[in-house]
Amino acid sequence: MTKISKTGNTLHVPSTPTIPFIEGDGVGKEITSAMRKVVDEAVKKAYNGERRIEWKEVLAGQKAYDNTGEWLPAATMDAFKDYLVGIKGPLTTPVGGGIRSLNVALRQGLDLFVCQRPVRWYKGVVSPVKNPELVDMTIFRENTEDIYAGIEWDCGTPEARKFHTFLHDEMGVKKVRFPETSSFGVKPVSREGSERLIRAALDFALEHDLKRVTFVHKGNIMKFTEGGFKRWGYELVEREYADAVADGRLVVDDCIADAFLQNALLKPEHYRVIATLNLNGDYISDMLAAMVGGIGIAPGANINYSTGTAIFEATHGTAPDIAGNDIVNPCSIILSSVMMLNYIGWKEAADRIERAMEDCFAEGIATNDLARFMPNGQALSTSLFAEALVSRM
Ligand code: NAD
Repeated sequence: MTKISKTGNTLHVPSTPTIPFIEGDGVGKEITSAMRKVVDEAVKKAYNGERRIEWKEVLAGQKAYDNTGEWLPAATMDAFKDYLVGIKGPLTTPVGGGIRSLNVALRQGLDLFVCQRPVRWYKGVVSPVKNPELVDMTIFRENTEDIYAGIEWDCGTPEARKFHTFLHDEMGVKKVRFPETSSFGVKPVSREGSERLIRAALDFALEHDLKRVTFVHKGNIMKFTEGGFKRWGYELVEREYADAVADGRLVVDDCIADAFLQNALLKPEHYRVIATLNLNGDYISDMLAAMVGGIGIAPGANINYSTGTAIFEATHGTAPDIAGNDIVNPCSIILSSVMMLNYIGWKEAADRIERAMEDCFAEGIATNDLARFMPNGQALSTSLFAEALVSRM
């Protein structure tokens, strides 16, 4: 049996699990190949050859379209459902044709409600802040709701007019400033959606002994949506986590999103686990990644903590301007594979990769995008950098 499965809260991982992967478009081929090489070696070394990943390629994006005429074949969705844990490179966003984004389609189709982004600094990586070593946070961004749900109508369309008429005539909303030229968007935020995201953040903090969880929101302005998120969060803590709070294992606080962006710069050491809504989470993830100089190497995952389905991913795009030159930085997908190995409980292999990366960066060894800013930087190609990692494991 090579399928990872989940019963209750337990993930069952065989010694040779099948892991589906999407190679990705543009630089996808180069980074995915580097990642597989590094992971295979780490697993082999960590478990003396007794564990091994069976990689199974599944198609999405340009490669899928060229081979099957579909951007996101049903077989790909089925594989992620079936095998639970997978990893992906970046995908070209199709222009026109009804698909807004393949990433969004994957997240929605598999109900991957947590977008999880760890942010830490690696010694040697040049950062724009004075003390990047103080940044050590994991962001839990809600992935299925909020103003990102895609419920919107363009100004001047019959739908926008109809929506405004409904607001005006039936809901008594008279304060739309320029009704004729307004586009409209709907921001659904539910108690269930908020609770499952916040529960995942609280469980993660407890499991990793991280103590503090901070709800980041704009509840001072959007009282029922973002305010609801905060209120439901505190109610959940009171209902299900009172013991952990009472015995000091968990501290829960909240922060208004704008103040959070300032605080994260001024006193990043205060924060460990962030639970936030979709749009806030989008901004916060990129700002924090930039603080550690890691915008191009930031890892991420989209996870449904109920079913166990998880897709780990490179967070950058397809970088068409450098594709095929063997210069792309493969660290985003490699660090995502570290998250994946930790997720399936293969911590020894994950640690080997992370330590090898720490060693490389500390020695000034990186791909050109990072090495050129390092005082003693030595720029390697993508494939040689992967080998440098392998030789340090
Ligand atoms: P991009 O991230 O592909 O590139 C932005 C810039 O950063 C480019 O100059 C690129 O060379 C550089 N860059 C990105 N990743 C790098 C890496 N790992 N190493 C070195 N340099 C790197 O963003 P874009 O140009 O806006 O988007 C290109 C395509 O990617 C679009 O089709 C877009 O829709 C898609 N995209 C996909 C994802 C995803 O699948 N997760 C995310 C963002 C963009």
